[in-house]
Amino acid sequence: MEPMKAAVAATAGLATAGAGLEVRNLDVGYGPLGEVLRGLSLTVAPGQIVTLLGPNGAGKTTLMRAVMGLLGLHDGEVRRGEILLDGVDCTSAESSQIVRRGIGLVPEGRQVFPTLSVEDNLRSGAHTRRGNRAEVEATFESMLERFPVLADRRRQAAGLLSGGEQQMVAMARALMAKPRLLLMDEPSLGLAPRIVEQIRDVIVEVRAEGTSVLLVEQNAALALEIADYGYVMETGRIVLDGPAKELLANTEIREFYLGQTGGERRNYRDVKHYRRRKRWLS
Ligand code: ATP
Repeated sequence: MEPMKAAVAATAGLATAGAGLEVRNLDVGYGPLGEVLRGLSLTVAPGQIVTLLGPNGAGKTTLMRAVMGLLGLHDGEVRRGEILLDGVDCTSAESSQIVRRGIGLVPEGRQVFPTLSVEDNLRSGAHTRRGNRAEVEATFESMLERFPVLADRRRQAAGLLSGGEQQMVAMARALMAKPRLLLMDEPSLGLAPRIVEQIRDVIVEVRAEGTSVLLVEQNAALALEIADYGYVMETGRIVLDGPAKELLANTEIREFYLGQTGGERRNYRDVKHYRRRKRWLS
């Protein structure tokens, strides 16, 4: 049995078993342009938090669009490779099918519906669960408990909320679908440390409930602290991967992503590209 299928089978008896994701040799391009993902392979085992790190423009959001079946909206396409969800090929599936398979997205930049109330934003997340009114109500109530600030703002237009509150709306909306795998695209971006801590706590809770998480983050310290496994990508390719604990201890990661070089703070963007690639690929 393939490792992914074995892992799925191992968790099949759990009511809240997380979904497994396997991306194999994926090439993705937009319009007539060359590929922005090139031979990308990545695995999220059921129930794991996996983080994907990488500089701006590396292709992280493109990967999320590919998994969610959203490339077509952006004039993009998978040109080679496969995306498997729980061992089933979903490479060319529609986004509605992907959502029905239990995959949720917290998109980059929150993308709340600004004129809809907080409540309606949350309820929109449950559109695939229409047959289960009582269960949807229970999930809705649990979201108001998990995010008390949203209970207070329930009837306000989501567009009037602060960035941190909008991020809570985006997370709660995705969780309303009861996803078995949650994709999160830079949930902490631009938010105050207190809010970032809350977001981290929510991610850890979500995983404790059995949901698998693929977390794209610029905040590598946060991501590697809570993740089981991590990938680093540059210009459409994975250049480094390993258990999160190992990546946290990795000198290059400490230098370029955590800004720790023997006490001297330094941004990874300042370091010449060739030097990073040479070291990571050697
Ligand atoms: P960031 O951290 O800045 O969000 P990213 O790692 O998520 O970056 P992507 O947004 O996936 O990177 O972009 C990868 C590459 O694809 C970039 O060069 C970007 O300009 C290009 N790209 C993204 N969307 C499109 C599009 N709709 N049409 C053409 N090129 C695109």
